[in-house]
Amino acid sequence: MIDPFGRSVTYLRVSVTDRCDLRCVYCMAEDMTFLPKSEVLSLEELDRLCGAFVSMGVRKLRLTGGEPLVRRNVMSLIDSLGARIGHGLDELTLTTNGTQLAKHAEGLFRAGVRRVNVSLDTLDAARFKEATRWGDIAKVLDGIYAAKAAGLHVKINAVALKGVNEDEFDRMLSWCGEHGFDLCLIETMPLGEITGDRADQFLPLSTVKRQLAQRWTLNPTSFTTGGPARYYDVAETGTRLGLITPLTHNFCESCNRVRLTCTGTLYMCLGQEDAADLRAPLRDPELGEDGLKQAIRDAIARKPKGHDFVIERARDPALARHMSVTGG
Ligand code: SAM
Repeated sequence: MIDPFGRSVTYLRVSVTDRCDLRCVYCMAEDMTFLPKSEVLSLEELDRLCGAFVSMGVRKLRLTGGEPLVRRNVMSLIDSLGARIGHGLDELTLTTNGTQLAKHAEGLFRAGVRRVNVSLDTLDAARFKEATRWGDIAKVLDGIYAAKAAGLHVKINAVALKGVNEDEFDRMLSWCGEHGFDLCLIETMPLGEITGDRADQFLPLSTVKRQLAQRWTLNPTSFTTGGPARYYDVAETGTRLGLITPLTHNFCESCNRVRLTCTGTLYMCLGQEDAADLRAPLRDPELGEDGLKQAIRDAIARKPKGHDFVIERARDPALARHMSVTGG
């Protein structure tokens, strides 16, 4: 699948549920209204849709949410998607908050998953509770260690937030180094209404990188996981530091991905509203597989050049949609 700007779309991110067992303050409001179950695609439908994308050239699938591991029977979807590895699909992975990882780590490995991204913004238990509104860091750490023990490569994703975790990146880099985890820092993006002003929390990673470079030897590397992060080898730890900088360094020119929500809506860009409904063609028996693939092709033909995020004080969010709709 080639988009109008000549970019090959090989990476599909699938939000399998909009529900989450945490309420991170920069991600969601506390009193979120979630989708009624009737709107959500069944696991079989999600598998069929993913299969269509794989047959059209998608080589990497990432499950996300909401929290992917809170969806009931999600392991059956993971097993069926895992069976596609080596048959068009190179990699199946997921992004999780880690709360359910201890339970599922071995099953994930058995299904063919080899890498997981775990979102963890702080190593401090009290801060974690505050940032997630009701999370228990012990559960997440258990999940992370279980993932490692099961043979999964772990990357820790942390959103860099002024006044929340800006004094912790050294400690996090050391901890990741001790355990062999890569650490990826992410700039906060203006998605969805939250309590407070994002401008107060926005921390440019250009600044963070300058500060880290005073203490750590960061060697730029061409390593990529097929996502938007730019990586540095950390000489002292042997692990990597990744930076995802949608605000300070736009990376849209190399965008290879699209995002499917649990209702079958395809977003061709995280930072734009335009979307295509794939649920109707998926459910239309008259259209069949060819009709579904044509709907996907039509959507890819509308992929925009890029996002235009800005974070300014007292401005409405760039997009009304929360990150939990598309999973980042
Ligand atoms: N529940 C899973 C998790 O925690 O990884 C998957 C979904 S969560 C929405 C995916 C990632 O998006 C998390 O790392 C989260 O911290 C990040 N995120 C949420 N809102 C964000 C925002 N406004 N800007 C940047 N990252 C955000």
